[in-house]
Amino acid sequence: MSMRILAAKVWTPTDIKEAWTLREKFHLQSCFVAGGTLLQTQWEKGVPYPPQLISLEKVEGLEGINYKTEGTKRFLQIGAMTKLATCRNHPVIKEKWSLLSTAIQQIAAPAIRNLGTIGGNVAYGFGDAIPALLTMDAEVSYFDGKTIKTEKLDHWLNTRQNKEVLLTGVILPEYRHSSFVTQFYKKVGRREAFSGSVVTVSGVIGKNDVGVIDFVRLAVGGGDNRPHRLKATEQLLIDQMINPKLLRNVYETILNEFHPISDVFYSDDYRRWVTANIIFSELSRLEG
Ligand SMILES: Cc1cc2nc3c(=O)[nH]c(=O)nc-3n(C[C@H](O)[C@H](O)[C@H](O)COP(=O)(O)OP(=O)(O)OC[C@H]3O[C@@H](n4cnc5c(N)ncnc54)[C@H](O)[C@@H]3O)c2cc1C
Repeated sequence: MSMRILAAKVWTPTDIKEAWTLREKFHLQSCFVAGGTLLQTQWEKGVPYPPQLISLEKVEGLEGINYKTEGTKRFLQIGAMTKLATCRNHPVIKEKWSLLSTAIQQIAAPAIRNLGTIGGNVAYGFGDAIPALLTMDAEVSYFDGKTIKTEKLDHWLNTRQNKEVLLTGVILPEYRHSSFVTQFYKKVGRREAFSGSVVTVSGVIGKNDVGVIDFVRLAVGGGDNRPHRLKATEQLLIDQMINPKLLRNVYETILNEFHPISDVFYSDDYRRWVTANIIFSELSRLEG
């Protein structure tokens, strides 16, 4: 089914294969539209919209949140078309994956979160939910034209390049349980009017009974900074007890491994320092 809006034709497929076939048919003349909130900001900035818009709104099976058990694995499955607001307020997410709820709370305003989807946030590659999802070892599921595949979000972000996919969902595996876990999500500055944050930093750090770090995930992103994990810093921390020397090394390692952008507002050095300071201060609170 289709209708014409302005100069573009809007297609409303009802299943994944139909959506995919349309995308293959129109290719660069088309794009998928979920909530349309990010695309709207791009079009308002003058980016031309393609003549064929493939709305995912009516595609079956892409919306909803399900807590599942498969064998010994327990996980939460979030359909790509699930609204940010629904994710943020979902009781299981609030209880078990609260970092995602915290992250979404800092994305745009409520009216936008009622339209924008988790899939749209992840698919565009720079969404503010991504650093939080990376620290929770999230996976993504996607349709590649033949079958639905699942892989770690971290891997997918690093290898997707220009590979075309239709994102079908986000999967959150149940956390492993350290004796003591601290988590944080900080989106620094310039939030209003979607000017992009200076930097977004997220972390999950677990310690065992004797104070040794037995789980650590750190991720950065924000604005035009491609979200990614800080793996060298994670490596430095795992199996260690926090002490002043380790903290100094962590600070230096972050400065070396994070390469943010510079723009007219903030230099890359400034973004690096802010990031190192946030992580340093979160780790200091764990000391002792
Ligand atoms: C005023 C305002 C403030 C905002 N503030 C923030 C903010 O603070 N942080 C932030 O992260 N974002 C922000 N946004 C952007 C946007 O609202 C969110 O990123 C939202 O999650 C995007 O989801 P969407 O469903 O609207 O995506 P859409 O705009 O529909 O799509 C985004 C991109 O993803 C692709 N896409 C969407 N779904 C799929 C899918 N299932 N499979 C494959 N490709 C897909 C589209 O083709 C498009 O390229 C803001 C937007 C506005 C208008």
